[in-house]
Amino acid sequence: MKPDQFPPEIQSYLVPSPAGLYLYECLGCGNTFDVGRLLYTCPDCKSVLMIRDREWERLKAVPGDLWRKIFDYRSMLTIPALRGIYRFHELLGSVLPLDAVVYLGEGHTPVIASNERLCDWTGLPVFFKNDGQNPSASFKDRGMASAFSYLNFLLKAGSLTDVLAVCASTGDTSASAALYASYLGDAVKSAVLLPHGKVTPQQLGQPLGSGARVIEIPGVFDDCMKVVEFLSENFPVALMNSKNPWRILGQESYSYEIAQAFDYEVGNLAVAVPIGNAGNITAVLQGFLKLLDLGIISSLPWVVGVQSAHANPVFLYYLETDPRKRSYRPVRVQPSVAQAAMIGNPVSMPRVMRLVERYRDLAGYEAFQAVEVSEQEIMDAMLWANRNGHVACTQGGECLAGIRKAVAGGSVPRDRAAVLDATAHALKFAVFQEKYFSDSFEPEFSISPRPELQNAPTCIPVPEDLPSPLSRKDLSPSELKAYVEYAAGKVAGILGLESE
Ligand SMILES: *Cc1c(COP(=O)(O)O)cnc(C)c1O
Ligand SMILES: [Zn+2]
Repeated sequence: MKPDQFPPEIQSYLVPSPAGLYLYECLGCGNTFDVGRLLYTCPDCKSVLMIRDREWERLKAVPGDLWRKIFDYRSMLTIPALRGIYRFHELLGSVLPLDAVVYLGEGHTPVIASNERLCDWTGLPVFFKNDGQNPSASFKDRGMASAFSYLNFLLKAGSLTDVLAVCASTGDTSASAALYASYLGDAVKSAVLLPHGKVTPQQLGQPLGSGARVIEIPGVFDDCMKVVEFLSENFPVALMNSKNPWRILGQESYSYEIAQAFDYEVGNLAVAVPIGNAGNITAVLQGFLKLLDLGIISSLPWVVGVQSAHANPVFLYYLETDPRKRSYRPVRVQPSVAQAAMIGNPVSMPRVMRLVERYRDLAGYEAFQAVEVSEQEIMDAMLWANRNGHVACTQGGECLAGIRKAVAGGSVPRDRAAVLDATAHALKFAVFQEKYFSDSFEPEFSISPRPELQNAPTCIPVPEDLPSPLSRKDLSPSELKAYVEYAAGKVAGILGLESE
């Protein structure tokens, strides 16, 4: 729909112009820095940064119900820059002009209500938000759209030439970064660092296909992260990990879309998110806090962060209920099927600590929960979700397992509805399904397949004396008929069909 066809009171708000004053704010010393340059850690104290809009209060001049209308009507526009995360421009990137926006189809992912069987199994109404339906098949595209739109803005303004975008990755960050970099053509080259043997073949193929330089590092993700941090501090490169606070801004769109999908009534939801480097949980918390602050929602949903017992530093930290006694310790990870979240020392931990405190102040202690699940629980939940019409990855399975556990343990009541983040598409993690089906998990995973969840193709044996398309190319019509009747008879036998 064209802007002049919208209701008059909406028209002037439909297509936003750059506004606001963005600053990097250090979570350690509180110093602020201009966003005119690339910055990932505080130059003074090396802590992580968040982006703050110093003119945020101006947005309160627009009442919450008008914001809701603006965002809802914007969904009908055909302007590419406003089709994705930037329909929430004022909340997550208001300083960027629309002509800098890189839009590759990210955002707007569907929220799918689960069938009765899966809701019964979980203990409450369950929805999956399928972020695997983003262009590179994971939620990372939300943050990359933001980080690359910002890079594009600097390039267009001439304050940056020839960028080398680098990232460490558990697989999906590299797929996404390489995709967006390839779109910007010669101006941006990309290099990705992956832990050798710790990403799936599908995830490895993605940055290769986008033309990125792919470098494998012996070790786990945490080791790759140290290497790119060193690079970003000593060489002229753009760091595309979620340490880059522009990534967080873009990922806030996940919360905005949940609010929109539930007509802005989110107070009765439990939103489950897997935690790896903790960028996503940071963005989700911050996103809901911003909506509340502007009166776009009237109460906060609960947020449940889920971790595998094989990579659980955030869970361990929040086990202690007394904030004064908590102490954060990185953990050494063990192999996890939730490989994209297999991180022992989350870069965004200081952000999480800050936001959880605010979140709990506003919405109560239970409004943020951290849950731990076993590898077995993750696999069983993923397979069961996908047997009920979903396309969840292992991290989506982790969310389902986490919510089910929280409901069973009474920490999430049955009268809430759960929204689970299927952070990537099931196909990216097909190797784990295959290991489950063929009972070939390495012992470290401690996973024994449940026979009722296993599946395998059945092959029809062809007798040696029966001419088949495999043995000969030029079957006569009668030979082909004999072959088809034989095979159809076998299939009918396997399926237990009776001829009519
Ligand atoms: C990156 C990723 C995660 C973990 O997100 P963080 O922001 O690192 O906590 C979970 N699932 C998938 C599929 C991912 O790609
Ligand atoms: Zn600082």
